[in-house]
Amino acid sequence: MPELRRDPVSGKWVIIAVERAQRPEEFQPDVAARKPGACPFCRGAEAATPAEIQSIRDAAGWRVRVIPNKYPALKVEGDLDKRGEGLYDVMNGIGAHEVIIESPEHVHNLTALDDAGVSGVLWMYKQRLVDLKRDFRLVYGLVFKNVGARAGATLEHSHSQLIATPMVPVRVQDEIDRAHAYFDFRGRCLFCDIVRQELATQARIVTESANFVAFEPFAPCSPFETQVLPKRHLSHYEATDDALLRELAGLLRATLLKIDRAIGTPAYNYLIHTAPLNAAPLDHYHWHFEIIPRVTKVAGFEWGTGFFINPVPPEHAAKYLREIRLS
Ligand code: ZN
Ligand code: ZN
Repeated sequence: MPELRRDPVSGKWVIIAVERAQRPEEFQPDVAARKPGACPFCRGAEAATPAEIQSIRDAAGWRVRVIPNKYPALKVEGDLDKRGEGLYDVMNGIGAHEVIIESPEHVHNLTALDDAGVSGVLWMYKQRLVDLKRDFRLVYGLVFKNVGARAGATLEHSHSQLIATPMVPVRVQDEIDRAHAYFDFRGRCLFCDIVRQELATQARIVTESANFVAFEPFAPCSPFETQVLPKRHLSHYEATDDALLRELAGLLRATLLKIDRAIGTPAYNYLIHTAPLNAAPLDHYHWHFEIIPRVTKVAGFEWGTGFFINPVPPEHAAKYLREIRLS
């Protein structure tokens, strides 16, 4: 019998379609689309990119490098100029669009770095959010990553992106509103409650460390969708201690490696949902990573309804991922 499950954070309904159940081995690996020509993100090709915004350097040169996107979705110069066109709302495309190049070597995935390398990337996300916060026009900063052609990556050299927008994106505002309503009713953070319940039941836990936990959400949109949360309440990613980011690096890398081994280096997206740049610390919102392997097709039904069909129950995915031994 298929099961309808509701995600308490997004409000979305998911159909856990066990009759369509697939074994992890049945998912197709992504075929990376290697573009001809030299890679602009590799060491030595710095002149091919726009001027560097920030970097982490050691004696050997840069380790992590941030540049503006060459083809930005939004631009940083100008005024918002909010206006109406009849009943329609318009403003100028103000924002920031940055690329975080994760290594000077031509690696395809964050998991090719060691824990210290991943830690540098996580630290850089924090620095960029702190920096963009100073621009009062920018209200939200979304850090995200596309790996593989099916997840929207156009360059295979491992990188993340950050797009800062002059409003809170609807999906994030929905989460915040739903979590706020939960907090008003129960006086507790929804995410803290989820962490507590997942740790108590263990059925969907993938891995945990002293301060972080990775688990499959109760109603995931996609097979092997995984979330990583700090166990202790914190609304803003950029408020995370550097020592905690070092701990997170190990856990995130292990989680991504497990997903890679489980379903054969799938295309995936990950993103960080955090509180708006201009918000004070919030009692009702809790930052988190969402990792979404792109192994199912989003088609007419999903577009039309906002429902997703997931052929792998999260309890099965979690058990499978838990049992993968790294090293
Ligand atoms: Zn490269
Ligand atoms: Zn919380």
